[in-house]
Formats: sequence, structure tokens, C-alpha cells
Amino acid sequence: MPPAVSRPSSREAFARAKKLMPGGVNSPARAFGAVGGEPIFIDRAEGSYLYDLDGNRYIDYIGSWGPMILGHAYAPVIESLHRAIDCGTSYGAPTTGENDLAELIIELVPSIEKVRLVNSGTEAAMSAIRLARGVTGRDKVVKFAGNYHGHVDALLVAAGSSAATLAVPNSPGVTTGASQDTLVLEYNDVAGLRDAFEVHGGEIACVAFEPVCGNMGVVVPTSEFRDALRSITNDHGALLLCDEVMTGFRVAIGGAQQRLGIEPDLTALGKIVGGGLPVGAYGGPDAIMCNVLPEGKVFQAGTLSGNPLATAAGATTLRTLRDDPPYEKLEALASQLETGLREAATAAGVPHQLARVGSMLTLFFADEPVTGWQSAAKCDTERFARFFWGMMDRGMYLPCSQYEAMFVSAAHTETDIENTIDAAREVLTSI
Ligand SMILES: *Cc1c(COP(=O)(O)O)cnc(C)c1O
Repeated sequence: MPPAVSRPSSREAFARAKKLMPGGVNSPARAFGAVGGEPIFIDRAEGSYLYDLDGNRYIDYIGSWGPMILGHAYAPVIESLHRAIDCGTSYGAPTTGENDLAELIIELVPSIEKVRLVNSGTEAAMSAIRLARGVTGRDKVVKFAGNYHGHVDALLVAAGSSAATLAVPNSPGVTTGASQDTLVLEYNDVAGLRDAFEVHGGEIACVAFEPVCGNMGVVVPTSEFRDALRSITNDHGALLLCDEVMTGFRVAIGGAQQRLGIEPDLTALGKIVGGGLPVGAYGGPDAIMCNVLPEGKVFQAGTLSGNPLATAAGATTLRTLRDDPPYEKLEALASQLETGLREAATAAGVPHQLARVGSMLTLFFADEPVTGWQSAAKCDTERFARFFWGMMDRGMYLPCSQYEAMFVSAAHTETDIENTIDAAREVLTSI
């Protein structure tokens, strides 16, 4: 037997991490900045549970921020990884695993005829924007405030003062040049979209959008907004880039485009498509994708793209979602959670809005419905922080920001949800 190793506490591990990595983390949301306090270090995960270094168990509602729709350490995914790893971990040459994953994506996502695999959602969105610019010969892109498409320079921007003004960088290091080619509009604002196209229509390569927004909390697009996105981009020869990194295989097997009847030109995927390993993908009709190198001229490459471990985990996940669809179960569990949280907040007299699409949901501490960033920004984020820590104390691991979605997985049980509602009932009366 190996000698027993004494484990550090989360507190000790974080003290060490802070000396090694900026803020002690490799992605800022993990540092719990929006809720104060220190992050908890995870030791392992199984099913719907996370276990921390300090001996606590949590019911997990972040699912690695989306990918773990089948729950943690799902046996068929782990087995497929064992099989793949025995054959080596990367070759930099084609494999049938890439065919398998690409074929599943094309089969399941309605608008995709051809796909390119990359390593993250950021890479997928960035590459899709380059392709849209390459195909249209235009420079400008439109995005919506509160939508997140990864840390792509051109999209890491904030809105200017009016709808048709150009964006300003919202991170040091993003050049004015990069941000000047981006227009930031309000989500669900059809008039704003029309105005922007009236002024800049002939220069716009694409409109990037989250088909159900998860990155300012869950915000649902109205049917008028969805129709306008398609008809206005069509009228002006711009491409519609549907960022399904979060919603793909989550709100339906074919993503939000299937659930809501959206017909995009380009789709970005990430999160679930890698089954918990680093994968992204972008795709669309052959007539657009044929412009990517080496078939076409738009450059995009990746040393580890289509990595055999990543494609094994991704393909096993998508195959499971296709052959044994958990969507009805997810709908039932998430609906139970929605109803319970709403009743608990109402009983406690806490002003709130509850938004849910399938297994993504957000409890907003807001007086009015959240339809875009302007209304999202009015949420009581301090109350959210108290809610978050109250739930953590009771073993419920929620996303550590008001502006994120909670995810339910197929590994959650009705009892998990009941326990979560019981905890919320207690916490909501004291915040
Ligand atoms: C998470 C996310 C991204 C970025 O994906 P990464 O894998 O973190 O780079 C892009 N778009 C949306 C909608 C996302 O939710």
C-alpha cells in the first residue's frame, strides 16, 4: 500500500495556488470574486456530487459550467477514456475518433453539414468569426451585451453610449482596433438591431448571439427577436453565428436551434461536445465550411485539435444523449427545482424572477423580468452572495455569480432536488 499522504485543506491549497497562478486560479470565475470569500478545492466528483479537500460533499449545480450533463465520472465515458489512453494520447495525424465525433455532431445539430474540431468554446467562436469575415469580406461583428463568446479580443468589449455606436474594450490588452470592428447591442432589442444594420449593414460580417443566454443568467430570446436576427442578417448579407457552446446538446439534443427553430449559418459548440475534456467545434453548411484551410483559404489549425481522448469522451457523451435521451428526465427535475425555488422565494417575501429553459435555470434577485443586460444589471448581487454562501453551507454548490446558469444533470435525483429546495427555503428566509 502506498504511504498515506496528508491532504491540504482548501485554505492551504488556495494559499499555495495564489503564489503560483494569478488570483490562484486558471479561470477567473473559480476564484469566487463575485460572492467574496475563498474557493473550495475539489478532490473528486461522482454522479451529482462534488467532494472537496475538507471532507464535504456538495450537490453540484455547475457541472463544470455545463459539460457534465450525464453527471460526473459517468462510467461509459470513463471506460472510453481508458480504452483510448492505452493507445497513446496524441498523434497529430488523423484518427477515426475524429470521424466519429464529427459524424455525431453533423447528425444531431440541424444546421451543421461540415464541422471543424478545436479545443475550447473560445476557439470555436473566434474561428467562426474569422470564417464569417473571410467569407463575407467584411470586418464588423455584432454581439449583444451580457452574451459571452469566450475571451476573443473582438468580443471582449462593452457597449458604447448608443445602439449604433462602436464598442470600447472592456479589458486592458484589447486594442481599440479590435473593439472598433464590434457593435454591442442590447439582447432582445429588435429596434436596436434594425438601427445598427441601417447604419452599418454593408460592413457587418456576422451577428454572434447566445440562442438562450446563459452568461448573464438565463435570458430567453423572444420569438420576434429570433425572427429579426434571421431576417435582418439575410437582408444584409451578414451571417448568423449561433453560439451554442452552452446550449448545444443541453436544451435539446440538437441544441437551442432545434428547440427554438433557429436556422443559423454558423454554429459554435463547446462544453458538452467534449464530455468533460477540452473540445470545441464550429460548423455550418458545406458551402461556408469549404472556405476553411486546407479546402479553402481561411486559416485555422491546432496541434491537439481532435485529440483522441477528447474525441472519445465527446463521442461517448453524444452517443449516450442520442441513444438514451435524458431530456424528459432533465425537464422534470429542473421543473421541480424551478417550482420549489419559486415557492421558497415567494414564501420568504424575496423579490425574484425565475428563468428556465430545459435544464438551465437562474433565480434572479430582481423586481422585474430580466430580458437583457440592462435589466440583469439591476439584480441584487449582494443578496445573491448571501444566498450562495447559505447554500454552500448546506452542501449545495451553485454557480458563484448571479450572472450564471445553474445546470441539472441526468445524475441528479428527485431527492437531490428536494434537499436543495429545503435548503433554499431556509436560506431565503434569512437573506
Ligand atoms: C463557455 C462559453 C464560451 C467559452 O467556452 P470556453 O470553452 O470556456 O472557451 C463561449 N460561448 C458560450 C456561450 C459559453 O457559454
